[in-house]
Amino acid sequence: MEPNITYQVNEEGYYGEFGGAYIPEILYAPVENLRKEYLSIIQDPQFQKEYNELLKDYVGRPSPLYEAKRLSDRYGCKIYLKREDLNHTGAHKINNTIGQILLARRMGKTRIIAETGAGQHGVATATVCALMNMDCVVYMGATDVERQKLNVRKMEMLGARVCPVVSGNKTLKDATNEAIRDWCCHPADTHYIIGSTVGPHPYPDLVARLQSIISKEIKSQLLEKEGRNYPDYLIACVGGGSNAAGSMYEYLDDPRVQLVLAEAAGKGVDSGESAATIHLGTTGIIHGAKTLLMQNADGQIEEPYSISAGLDYPGIGPMHAHLAKSRRSEVLAVDDDEALQAAVELTRLEGIIPALESAHALGVFRKKSFLPDDVVVLCLSGRGDKDMETYIQYTQKL
Ligand SMILES: *Cc1c(COP(=O)(O)O)cnc(C)c1O
Repeated sequence: MEPNITYQVNEEGYYGEFGGAYIPEILYAPVENLRKEYLSIIQDPQFQKEYNELLKDYVGRPSPLYEAKRLSDRYGCKIYLKREDLNHTGAHKINNTIGQILLARRMGKTRIIAETGAGQHGVATATVCALMNMDCVVYMGATDVERQKLNVRKMEMLGARVCPVVSGNKTLKDATNEAIRDWCCHPADTHYIIGSTVGPHPYPDLVARLQSIISKEIKSQLLEKEGRNYPDYLIACVGGGSNAAGSMYEYLDDPRVQLVLAEAAGKGVDSGESAATIHLGTTGIIHGAKTLLMQNADGQIEEPYSISAGLDYPGIGPMHAHLAKSRRSEVLAVDDDEALQAAVELTRLEGIIPALESAHALGVFRKKSFLPDDVVVLCLSGRGDKDMETYIQYTQKL
């Protein structure tokens, strides 16, 4: 039997009909350079050694695979939580930024730019720039700068320059456009660290590979705990798709493992206020990739909404557009209230306060039933410290 490689990116940078690199002429050279070099650099043994040492001693990996017994009892199956919330900086994002800064250094770059919405990717980027002594500029919508003061202060303390973006709606999409504009002006010395499995090829594949450490660890941890190296189900939330891609990477072509994704339904899929891109999106081009996105009849991108800033993105990485369209993955839309309930439930059952994004993945247990023998691994992508204000408001209303 031929190995099934349909769910991985192909030579041209596509996942099925999605992906590619739709970029302005001026970015052709830096993107093409990255495309030519990224695989040989990240597969180089010296790179791997440095990357793995930092993941171990700086990030704190391997992250535990924790059997959540009380949660398992509640839902009648065996649930393991992959504890990305325990990483340095509080989420999976650092797996990617550590890898990309090592890559940038090897490509001779001296300056790093990034975009950020809630500030989580900005903080993860500013952190590795401090570590590697690199200049760092983070673009952030002016509205988000106001809303996320603590993360702005963290980035500044780490030595990054935060540039508030005042165009458009002054949120993530506008910050991304501004970062792309910056890259166009400084293609030679600057590397653009994209924070999820989005953007032009090779970014989705690069980020998926750097996050694939999550599923590599799940494999060996499950073998130790269950005597088999695969679960029956993997559950993750999707914003752009990086924690999902990382936890599913090793199992993409393994039909024994069912993939379940949770996207943000905001106030309801049909409310006009959601970020349920896979349910509502149509094919178009956003930030250099052909994928599913929320757009109106004129092709204008619609402003997404979710209570969770990390899922509030109008597009979805091309890998996930393909997994969903080909029915390799099942996609459930979890709304604000369902996520909040799931967050409180996990906190009370297991003593773990999850990030609001991860709470959307936890919301799957109320929507889908499992069998007593099912082994279910859920990627707990981050911790809830940053969401405490939202949780306090919610629990006061109860
Ligand atoms: C950013 C973020 C997400 C969403 O991003 P993906 O690329 O879809 O993983 C999910 N969880 C947490 C904790 C985040 O910070």
